[in-house]
Formats: sequence, structure tokens, C-alpha cells
Amino acid sequence: MSDIPTPAPHILVAEDHAALRAQIVAVLAGAGWHVDEASDGRLALQLALEQPPDVLLLDLGLPGLDGLQVCQRLRAEADRHIPVLMLTARDTLADKGNGFAAGADDYLLKPFASDELLWRCRALARRGELGRSPLLERGPLRIDRRSASVHCAGQPLPVSGQAYRLLLALAEAWPRTVSRSELLRQLWADEPPESDALRSHLYTLRQALGSAQSLVKTVHGVGLRLDVPG
Ligand code: CA
Repeated sequence: MSDIPTPAPHILVAEDHAALRAQIVAVLAGAGWHVDEASDGRLALQLALEQPPDVLLLDLGLPGLDGLQVCQRLRAEADRHIPVLMLTARDTLADKGNGFAAGADDYLLKPFASDELLWRCRALARRGELGRSPLLERGPLRIDRRSASVHCAGQPLPVSGQAYRLLLALAEAWPRTVSRSELLRQLWADEPPESDALRSHLYTLRQALGSAQSLVKTVHGVGLRLDVPG
């Protein structure tokens, strides 16, 4: 595999108004985003914690948990900062203040233009990317995103291509177990590979890790996890 596709940015759209949600999803999917949907606050929180999106588009008025509650719990429980774009019809200063106090990164008032939605989502995804350190240290593993290189206990390891992307996905998600479907999405965006590609890249990764291969654990029926001490 010579060209590695860039994974589509991932957004979770939490909006209970079905027609508006469908409209938002169409705009984002049309612009190349991978879109997950939630129609209530509890599902939104669960999905955001299980598969952290690059951006969470969060309606303020949601059943289950409202947008403020989702945002507060996300900030308390997520293992990384998930950029939140709060969506609301309310436009009083106090409502905006409440949203930012709950941890929102930006605000968009209904009704909005599709272009503005896309601009704000892109800006938030970019900001999230910039805020991440290029170095990931997980137990004996040290991954440098700038050079796409991997060291284990100070020794360079020949991890490249999709095996590198696989290891990076596990390291970024650590200590979470990453499901097979999430890995497929992260590695191949919206172009699913032939059925055994993930297994073959996992094999390649384990070969490259050598004596450190036990760090990549298969969690049966769930997915893969990097097994390093916290
Ligand atoms: Ca609503």
C-alpha cells in the first residue's frame, strides 16, 4: 500500500430535531466528514466517551441530558479535550455564558448558514490538532508524530505505514480499548479494505515490535488495546 489515505475528520452531531440533524449530517458528510449522530444527551455522552470525535456539535436543548450537562460531564470524564461547538436558538448573553462555563469551545446560533457550520467545525478540529503534543509516551514506547517514528526503551523500531497508523491509534486512545470498526475507520477512512487487512497490519506491527509485541493486546470480542502501565 503506497498511499495512506488521510482519515476523514470525525464529528458527532447531537441534535434531537430529526430534520435539522439530517440537514447538518448531509452538509458535513458532503464535505468529507465522518459523521456519527445522537438524538439525546445520554447517547451523545456515551458515544463521545467511547469514540472521541474531533468535534462534538452539541445542541443545547436535548432530552436525557441537556447540552450543558453533556458538556460538563464530558469535561469531567473524557481522557482528552474534545472540542465542543454548542448549537442553540437561544441568544441571550447569559445562555452563552452558561455554555462557555460548562466547557463549550464555540457557539453557533440557529438558524445558521451551512458554510459557517463548516468553517467553525474545521477551525475547532484544527485547534484540537494543534493542541496535541507531537510526542506520545506510553510505557516503554515513544511515538513522535512529526517524524512518524517509534522507539521502545530508547531503541528505534521499524514501524511504518499502516502498522504505524494502527499503533498511533492505540496509543492515542490508551488506556481505552479501540474497537475493530473504529480502527477500520481511522486507518482507511471511508474506503473499507479487503476483510483481512486489519489482521495483516496487526501481524506486521507485532513483528516490528519484536520483544515488545505483548504490549498490543487483543481484547476478544471488543478490539485492541495498548497494555502499558498507567
Ligand atoms: Ca433541541
